[in-house]
Amino acid sequence: HVPAAIRSLAPYQPGKPIEELARERGLRETDIVKLASNENPLGMSPKARATLDATAAEGARYPDGNGFVLKEAIARKFGVAPKRLVLGNGSNDVLELAARIVLQPGAEAVYSQYAFAVYPLVTQALGARPVEVPAKDYGHDLEAMLGAITPRTRIVFLANPNNPTGTFVPGEALESFLARVPEDVLVVLDEAYGEYLDPTERYESLAWVDRFPNLLVCRTFSKIYGLASLRVGYGVARPELVDVINRIRQPFNVNAFALAAAAAALEDEAFVARSAELNRQGLLQLYEGFARLGLRWVPSRGNFVMVHVGDAGAVNEALLDRGVIVRPIAGYGLPEWLRVTVGLPEENARFLEALADILCI
Ligand code: PMP
Repeated sequence: HVPAAIRSLAPYQPGKPIEELARERGLRETDIVKLASNENPLGMSPKARATLDATAAEGARYPDGNGFVLKEAIARKFGVAPKRLVLGNGSNDVLELAARIVLQPGAEAVYSQYAFAVYPLVTQALGARPVEVPAKDYGHDLEAMLGAITPRTRIVFLANPNNPTGTFVPGEALESFLARVPEDVLVVLDEAYGEYLDPTERYESLAWVDRFPNLLVCRTFSKIYGLASLRVGYGVARPELVDVINRIRQPFNVNAFALAAAAAALEDEAFVARSAELNRQGLLQLYEGFARLGLRWVPSRGNFVMVHVGDAGAVNEALLDRGVIVRPIAGYGLPEWLRVTVGLPEENARFLEALADILCI
């Protein structure tokens, strides 16, 4: 009796694990470069890492199910009251919770073509109808998204910057979009890559939460803070919305290691700045490499970039043979493109060399 909407789903495809590739192709794990999951190539924030032992010493205790300390740290850093915060086991958890409070069979969820894979997943899992709006220049077409809203629409998902395309909608355009979405439609603004934006392009989305009662901003510690393994993210919304989410949230959805490490990572501004700068330079290195190889790419605001390689399936296989793991995005409807995460300079170089070798350039 599994519903057809669930049976027709394809499981989320994460980047191939290093151990698996090593086993499969007879490679040494240390010879493999993984640039597939938009992780921070610098590793964890050292301040976060320093919290792990102390947490382990208290490891028999349940975590604080309300995340008091982390919420306080987020509140202090960004000037939002703790009652406006909800924590998640990764921001994926927050995305799913948001969907669960509003979606049911008969409801519609609006998002763009090339949107993050979790949006269709949570929508279909709840028996709701996905409404995928054609993209414009690989990015969100906000006018078309507004046009796709019907009386059955309950949620709009919008990642800015977007994954896997790296495209970006300026703050002013987003603000007028929000002003035009009906108030009974929840808007999930997914800022997983927001910290990589150039300061000149940042916008004050957390302040919008007061103006737009239907707005939920989602952020993560998996990217610039380097805590993907620990699984922790957060949502910011008006207290009434947070209260509803808390009713269906699992009691201990964020573990103690994640809570402590995230609070410390927030304070590690030097690490965040270093990560952003490394990313800026890495993107330039990749763009230059692509230009040399005569390849097209979509300029990215994230810590990844998608590049046009033609038969991406074959190129990906050849990259795997050479110990380089990137992300094929055929599942996103982009069969001629690969998405590569920005790595350390030597990792980016290794990827570009393998690509040149494969394309015989
Ligand atoms: N949103 C977007 C757009 C993402 O790319 C990702 C990570 N792939 C996430 C959310 C979820 O990240 P996490 O669950 O690790 O916070």
